[in-house]
Amino acid sequence: MVRQAGAKEVHLRVSCPPTISPCFYGVDTPTRKELIAANQSVEEIRKFVEADSLSYLSLGSLRRAVSDTDANYCYACYTGNYPTELISVDMLMATGR
Ligand code: SF4
Repeated sequence: MVRQAGAKEVHLRVSCPPTISPCFYGVDTPTRKELIAANQSVEEIRKFVEADSLSYLSLGSLRRAVSDTDANYCYACYTGNYPTELISVDMLMATGR
């Protein structure tokens, strides 16, 4: 659309790291299978969106932006490291809890 509007180049900057894991804490994200960054490299994503360049904010830069100096914030959607044990809904249903 941007090119159709006359842009000669498209440089895409994303204000967070690539989202590689779903959120289980309330943000409605797709499954890992549906998350493009979970399955493709930045270069592959750049080609997919047909941008001339693509860059994401690094995790370190995000942490500095939110003044996180003691790693207490959740970054699971960017790292795949969840701060809590994940519980399977199917397993809960099977146990009647
Ligand atoms: S940082 Fe944690 S709580 Fe926030 S969207 Fe990502 S996984 Fe969910």
